[in-house]
Amino acid sequence: MSDIIHLLPDSVANQIAAGEVIQRPASVLKELVENSIDAGATSIQIVIKDAGRTLIQVIDNGKGMSETDARMAFERHATSKIENADDLFSIRTMGFRGEALASIAAVAQVELRTRRQEDELGVNVEIAGTRVFKQEMVQCDLGTSFQVKNLFFNVPARRRFLKSDNVEKSHILNEFYRIALVNSTVAFSFFDGEEEIFQLPASNNKIRIENIFGKNAKKRWQQQLLTIETSTNLVTINGYVGKPEFAQKSASQYFFVNGRYMRHPYFHKAVLLAYNQMIQVSESPNYFIYLEVDPQTIDINIHPTKTEIKFENEQTIWSILSAAVKEALGKFNIVPSIEFDQEGAVDMPTGMVIENVRPPQTNFNPNYNPFGTSSYKRPVLDWEDLYGGFEKKEEQIPTSIDWELNKNISLTPSFTNQEQQQVIDNLETRAENYQYKNRYILTGIKSGLMMIDQQRAHTRILYDLFLNQIENSRSLSQQILFPEIVELSADDSLFFEQILPDLEHIGFEFEILENHTYSVKGISAHVGTGSVIDLLLEMLDKAKTTAQDPTASIHETIALSLAEASSLKSGQRLSPEEMSDLIDRLFACVNPNFTPDGKKIMTIFTQEELVKRF
Ligand code: ADP
Ligand code: MG
Repeated sequence: MSDIIHLLPDSVANQIAAGEVIQRPASVLKELVENSIDAGATSIQIVIKDAGRTLIQVIDNGKGMSETDARMAFERHATSKIENADDLFSIRTMGFRGEALASIAAVAQVELRTRRQEDELGVNVEIAGTRVFKQEMVQCDLGTSFQVKNLFFNVPARRRFLKSDNVEKSHILNEFYRIALVNSTVAFSFFDGEEEIFQLPASNNKIRIENIFGKNAKKRWQQQLLTIETSTNLVTINGYVGKPEFAQKSASQYFFVNGRYMRHPYFHKAVLLAYNQMIQVSESPNYFIYLEVDPQTIDINIHPTKTEIKFENEQTIWSILSAAVKEALGKFNIVPSIEFDQEGAVDMPTGMVIENVRPPQTNFNPNYNPFGTSSYKRPVLDWEDLYGGFEKKEEQIPTSIDWELNKNISLTPSFTNQEQQQVIDNLETRAENYQYKNRYILTGIKSGLMMIDQQRAHTRILYDLFLNQIENSRSLSQQILFPEIVELSADDSLFFEQILPDLEHIGFEFEILENHTYSVKGISAHVGTGSVIDLLLEMLDKAKTTAQDPTASIHETIALSLAEASSLKSGQRLSPEEMSDLIDRLFACVNPNFTPDGKKIMTIFTQEELVKRF
């Protein structure tokens, strides 16, 4: 039998190899525009037709090519950008593989016109399916123009594989953004057939972002970008992050390193972490982050279409990045101001004002706290005192009333039962808080009606409190008269002992007995009166799950799981003063809008919306 192995003809080998680099029209656009950038162009024009199927043209004013180079450029592994293996570790150009033009020429009809500054005449090369049809000297502009026609004309399988025009176009735009966003000093024009899609003047990164994404909503983009900026030995980080309220389901998120777009899921997490608790879980912030590092410290993916890049100092950069984003967000006040409406309050009926009233004593109990919780104290109405007082002894002036706020109210000891009820009802009205389905608190504010989820609000309040205690070692402990014993699995016990010091900061006291058993001798003064054991087990369960995420901070995890386990639940009836206390404490939080894990705490029905309904 004769030998059966033979070499494939160049055209076939090239076609096969091209499959790696050129998968769709967008890949052609990317390769051509990157070449223009590498050639030092300051102005690049792009024209596509039929989503790039029939034409992709890129014209630049870069340095052009000599006659020989224009022909060489189409050879596989022909490049002017690196010379040896060492150069791979100091890449500053977009291209370096020398494969793109060879691949494009293998699967399309290509016409090149190019001229260098020093040459009087330029050169025109026409090549299709790797065969050169024409090479001649021509008059042409300085720079380079590539026309790529009828992509995959000789690979029907590939052509069929292409998606609808809209899909292909969106791939093209995505590639375009990745280049245009990081080359803002280069002017671009972009035509789809006759239609001008973009006309981007040379500018800076911020204006470039606004010009690209703010085409129809420029103001929105101008308002939302916060600058990030930091420089260390390892990395220089510049860029913009969107304000939390502009977060959206499909956000624009871009990382660039040394002028090159990259995907970096790990750094992405660093950014998200900085937004922790500021946005809803289902939404994501916009960001455009430009990193500069020593090219020796990164490994640009050798695969032509992959955009992942490895960093030598990944973890350190991760922290620097997260801190930089946090700082940018911190400089900007993320809490919306909500004005509580005093005007809407219902006046006390005048009939109740009786003359010659003894001025009441203001005598409130600063330690009174409906949830046994926060360090925040406000004068509150002691309900039982008030009501009980009337029943027991008519002469008695109720204690603990915030008289300052109730100047209109005068009480006399001579009310009938019905009148007492009226006073109580009106006081409730004054507070303007209603509980709906034992789950939501409704309260009037200037701009409309606010609805607060009581459980989530309380979770937020407790979370802030616990986190503060863990980090600042301030705690209130309640001693338990008869210590309770909790027995854990070996696994849980391991985890539990890790977080034990933090729990002690919050006010828990434990004695470690043997066999994963603990005696609970004290608990946080803020966790209410339910079963301590249940609370601990629930908290451990939640904390364990969250702690599996390596980026989750253990302090935040503990604070959140404990806050969730001990927050008041929906279905719990709240008294009016409990409601107003909850509201007050919620609004003392830095971020009253969302729970620590990004759930919405409140919603507002605007006055307009409400009026419209009638
Ligand atoms: P690479 O970009 O990896 O070097 P390409 O196949 O994309 O490989 O291009 C081959 C060579 O052709 C480049 O190295 C460059 O010298 C030259 N070239 C390509 N496009 C241009 C252009 N627009 N202007 C000037 N030279 C170009
Ligand atoms: Mg290239």
